[in-house]
Amino acid sequence: MKTEAQSPFDRLLEKALEENVALSLPEIARLLRAAEGEEETKLFQSAYQMKTRHVGRVVRLRGIVELGNVCSKDCFYCGIRRSNAKMHRYTMSEEEIVETALLGELFHYGSVVLQGGERSDAAFVDLIEGALQKIRNRSEGRLGITLSLGEQTPETYRRWFAAGAHRYLLRIESSSPELYARIHPSDHSYAKRRRALDDIRAAGFQVGTGVMSCLPGQTIEDLARDIAFFRDLDCDMIGMGPYIPHRDTPLGQLAESNLLTDSERLSAGLRMIAVTRLVLRDVNIASTTALQALAPDGRERGLLAGGNVVMPNLSAVSHRGDYLLYQNKPGTDENAGESRQALLASVERIGECIEPDAWGDSPHFGRRKGRQ
Ligand code: SAM
Repeated sequence: MKTEAQSPFDRLLEKALEENVALSLPEIARLLRAAEGEEETKLFQSAYQMKTRHVGRVVRLRGIVELGNVCSKDCFYCGIRRSNAKMHRYTMSEEEIVETALLGELFHYGSVVLQGGERSDAAFVDLIEGALQKIRNRSEGRLGITLSLGEQTPETYRRWFAAGAHRYLLRIESSSPELYARIHPSDHSYAKRRRALDDIRAAGFQVGTGVMSCLPGQTIEDLARDIAFFRDLDCDMIGMGPYIPHRDTPLGQLAESNLLTDSERLSAGLRMIAVTRLVLRDVNIASTTALQALAPDGRERGLLAGGNVVMPNLSAVSHRGDYLLYQNKPGTDENAGESRQALLASVERIGECIEPDAWGDSPHFGRRKGRQ
């Protein structure tokens, strides 16, 4: 029987699937450049194989609580940036944060993420500390708690860890200091954000980071270096997605920000998930809401490309329209129960399952702890 000769791309995928192989930057970039069609399909299939081997076909859930959109930062791409005067601002009370987070227990999500604009004033640090203690006490420690609240002092990270949170997600946004400088005002520091990731780990947290793809001026080589950055950081979890313009931001008003189609952005986001899965293997990788903003089945496609974490929204409908990081954010008119139904249906559609009531730490974290 005649067998088809393997292409160099097939051989590279085969190499990526071997254990104990560290792909080079050009190899990572070549995977990211997979041609549309057969190569891209094979890339996603290989990433799914790697996911099945290391984290299984089990979706880990994190109910997300968008606790406030007051932000001291002025990132050029973000809808809740300080200078966006059109944004109606809110901050949940301690009671509202706690009650919303506890819905995550009621829904058997096992784990929640408290996310919001960046604030480091004493009142905010106390608010989060108090809410964490109450969530931990009322759930009797059963609910896993991730924070995504930006750059803080080492002392704040230590206080929030002691109060009951155990994972922290802080996207580096881009591991290229030059690109980082182009998408942030001059008083935002790449070095400070990078240092914060070390402070987060030193405080005891499992560490998550991530980037945006599709940024104006970003190259495939930049994205390949982002993936190498995740590997070098030895991080436990990844949350990343394509940049989606917001019209009331400086970047969103640049013509070059709006060149890509939704399907090009989706494909870039899926390729980043797939190649990150092949390179980092046993970490948790989120299939983020940004993918769903680009296609109704974006979240499922993220899972099929190697993602294993989904973050259903727990926030009340009254706040959802105010947490608009980018245009066309999905789910702004559904309540937490409807978000849950939509999620369960999409997981079922792709033949995966949910492990209820589990913290769902990444196997990578377990191995890293074992080495310490
Ligand atoms: N303040 C926290 C921080 O800085 O990490 C968490 C909230 S912040 C809004 C969460 C993430 O939203 C950012 O890390 C960024 O990557 C993402 N984001 C903001 N604007 C976006 C946009 N226009 N398109 C896609 N993602 C965006």
